Amino acid sequence: MAQIAARSDVHDVVIIGSGAGGGTVTKVLADLGVKVLLMEAGPMVSMGDFKMLRTPASMVWHRGAGEHAEAYTGGRQTPLSFDAFYRADADDEPYTVADGSSFRWFRSRCIGGRTNHYGRVQLRYADYDFKPHDYDGLGFNWPIAYADIAPYYDKAERFIGVTGKAEGLRSAPDGIFQEPAPLKPHEILVQRACAKLGIKAINARQAVITSPLNGRPPCHYCGQCGRGCAQGSNYAASYTQIFPAMKTGNVTVVTNAMARELVTDASGKVTAVAYIDKTTGTEQQVRCRSVVVSASACESARLLLNSKASGHPDGLANENGQVGRYLTDTVGTSMSAQVPALAGMPVFNTDGYGAHLYIPWWMVDRHKELDFPRGYHVEVGGGGFGMPGLGFGANTYNRVEGYGLPLKQAIRDNYGPGTTIGFSGRGAMIPNEDCYCEIDPGKKDKWGIPVLRFHWKWRDSENHQRAHMRETFRAILESMGGTVNATPAPPASPPGGGIIHEVGCVRMGDDPKTSVLDKWCRAHHVPNLFVADGGPFVSHADKNPTHTIIALAWRTAEHLADELKKANV
Ligand SMILES: Cc1cc2nc3c(=O)[nH]c(=O)nc-3n(C[C@H](O)[C@H](O)[C@H](O)COP(=O)(O)OP(=O)(O)OC[C@H]3O[C@@H](n4cnc5c(N)ncnc54)[C@H](O)[C@@H]3O)c2cc1C
Repeated sequence: MAQIAARSDVHDVVIIGSGAGGGTVTKVLADLGVKVLLMEAGPMVSMGDFKMLRTPASMVWHRGAGEHAEAYTGGRQTPLSFDAFYRADADDEPYTVADGSSFRWFRSRCIGGRTNHYGRVQLRYADYDFKPHDYDGLGFNWPIAYADIAPYYDKAERFIGVTGKAEGLRSAPDGIFQEPAPLKPHEILVQRACAKLGIKAINARQAVITSPLNGRPPCHYCGQCGRGCAQGSNYAASYTQIFPAMKTGNVTVVTNAMARELVTDASGKVTAVAYIDKTTGTEQQVRCRSVVVSASACESARLLLNSKASGHPDGLANENGQVGRYLTDTVGTSMSAQVPALAGMPVFNTDGYGAHLYIPWWMVDRHKELDFPRGYHVEVGGGGFGMPGLGFGANTYNRVEGYGLPLKQAIRDNYGPGTTIGFSGRGAMIPNEDCYCEIDPGKKDKWGIPVLRFHWKWRDSENHQRAHMRETFRAILESMGGTVNATPAPPASPPGGGIIHEVGCVRMGDDPKTSVLDKWCRAHHVPNLFVADGGPFVSHADKNPTHTIIALAWRTAEHLADELKKANV
């Protein structure tokens, strides 16, 4: 390896990665007076980097294509909503996919990680999501129950702010909510159509504030949340947690630092983190009393698998071969329609914080009627007069003819973005043995660090669920008088990782033979090693994972602070 320089200070806690997990641990520990070093593979960001109030065409690279720009660029992986330097460069940091598998891995590289531009759908897991095996005999139970984590959902909601209204639904537990913004006209249509079908559609639960909170001003509904919020009205680990934590004086931040290996002593405890300083290409070390790995589910697994020594030749905390196993993603598909009832409306401002309506799973007590286990929720998109993205006209131009002003008028009146309504299903996945990541023995990244190879196979349960989503979407859209758009046709078997909710790989459990971490997300066999990101997830509910990542990380951080106080770490 390159020259190794060891820093002499011994830090109480080194946190690796600054997304939802790492940001939460940093804030909680700093507030409790613990001195931490936060190591992040990407650069620092400032409020000026968050580019709201700009046209898509003025942004580097994506020119309106939005999050999934590769759909329009022949499969080449392009950046997410951010400028190019915030993402993992696929050439510098490749990953591989095993023959016969299909998997996509979206990674951010900057302070705050993917929380700077995530969708901010902020949902609590339900009671049965923590005990899925008890519920339907499939998958695995978590070592904790809803009651263990509920106080941390409360703390997270009080601190970051989440919109919503109490509904008393088992599938969508209520929280401590900020007043939600009113529904938009097309959302009222959707709500009415759902009611006709016996489906309840409710106010969206988004990590956005509508009244001031902790010095942050409320949302002004510009609608450009996808590039971060320049006034900090939604949640991002950067401006909501890490910047305030830095003001406590308890946080040292090291950026452009790619952790390569956890260094251990003869007893197997972690004593240092070896990392690549990406600005110089040299290898460095920081010494630590304890370490929290929060590099995101698969990166955390990669770091553990790459941390080999004579006492753990297959990677750290991997005595039972479980690191990398039981990788899951959300089950997803989508459908849109043109709804004539919305045609010819005067142009008016329908911006806001994304969707203001969502449909929680409505068949929680009727799952025996279905040919798949578990369930899904539906996120509502389209409608309104938002700024169109690249490719928006795919379903428009083939329906109208002519040129010049009459053509523009026809598009505006009848088929423009205001008349399109879209649904995205987000469903539970049951962990299986065929979905995992491992170190690819034949490939290294730019810094010589072995990369991950992904394996992926959907089961019938997920495929059947996807089919049910499409039947539901069609029923709702047609009951609104909509005509379902034929294009783009959803892939029959979409790649894993495509919904960007990958979790698992470093799972928690009561049994050290079948899990990596205990119920506090501490490695069973490495007492000063904790994991705080999507890695500890035991199974994947239909809920988007970030709220649970934050709540779990909060719980782990408080436990770690306690253990430090008692000198147990
Ligand atoms: C466009 C988009 C929309 C999304 N929408 C939603 C949504 O609406 N709701 C929801 O719940 N989730 C959503 N997600 C997913 C959400 O972003 C993730 O669940 C969440 O950010 C995961 O947090 P994390 O801390 O595990 O990882 P990340 O946020 O990915 O942060 C990991 C950090 O670790 C750093 N890192 C990685 N490896 C190393 C290393 N070796 N050394 C040092 N640092 C390292 C990375 O640079 C990164 O900053 C969305 C994601 C995207 C991209």
